[in-house]
Amino acid sequence: MEGKNALITGSTRGIGKAIALELASRGYNIILHGTVSSDKTKAVLEEVKKKGVRAAFLAGDVSDYASCKKIAEQAIKEFKQIDILVNNAGITLDRTLKKMAPEEWSKVIGVNLNSLYNVTSTILPAIPDEGRIINISSIVGITGNFGQTNYAATKAGAIGFTKSLAKELGKRKITVNAIAPGFIQSDMTEQIPLEMLANILELIPMKVMGKPEDVAKAVAFLASEDARYITGEVLRVDGGLNF
Ligand code: NAD
Repeated sequence: MEGKNALITGSTRGIGKAIALELASRGYNIILHGTVSSDKTKAVLEEVKKKGVRAAFLAGDVSDYASCKKIAEQAIKEFKQIDILVNNAGITLDRTLKKMAPEEWSKVIGVNLNSLYNVTSTILPAIPDEGRIINISSIVGITGNFGQTNYAATKAGAIGFTKSLAKELGKRKITVNAIAPGFIQSDMTEQIPLEMLANILELIPMKVMGKPEDVAKAVAFLASEDARYITGEVLRVDGGLNF
């Protein structure tokens, strides 16, 4: 994969960071991305560079179109083309709909769903034929989940976005796929109360949570030449969870 460039949004920690490290270990140059630059993001950048690839960090807010346009301009200036785009950045603000404030609804829609338009439309001119777009959805976008109407709406939206864009870009052999992770160890799932977590583990046939690396390997497969004829698909990485 020498010479190929991958941009992963929200790659300073968790699943995004694991994707960046996995793709770097397969030889892709990496554009890391997060909301702000910090000592932590600098450390992640160094970790990626140790894999022997070119890497850069770009800061910006995926819910803001102007910020995404700037990120795209910087990425294109420095790397010319973006072979792989992974839309990974995401947040949860859980609340039953009855109690959900308008800001809790719109913030999650902004970061998880508007971002797909903001990032993908601004990067698209730099994606070559046979490029890859991989969107990180969630099983919750397929099944729904108590207290997550906002989050589930965005993750279901990511699947509709994926399937539609796959139809638009098929002619250029650019594949567009979604990954639907189940419960994966990260800062996001650390917020789940222990009692609820025990109930969730009961529902997972494999009886363990996934690791960020499990999602990263699936991304690496969809990014690879081996997946060249797979598009508009949703790949679940969930230990068999079906709730
Ligand atoms: P995380 O909270 O550890 O990481 C989220 C990343 O997104 C961070 O790098 C953060 O800086 C970035 N981010 C958040 N808001 C942003 C914004 N406005 N602009 C730019 N970047 C922003 O979460 P994670 O568990 O690694 O989740 C990564 C993706 O996987 C998310 O889309 C999430 O919805 C999805 N997902 C996670 C799980 C899970 O169990 N952890 C399950 C299904 C789907």
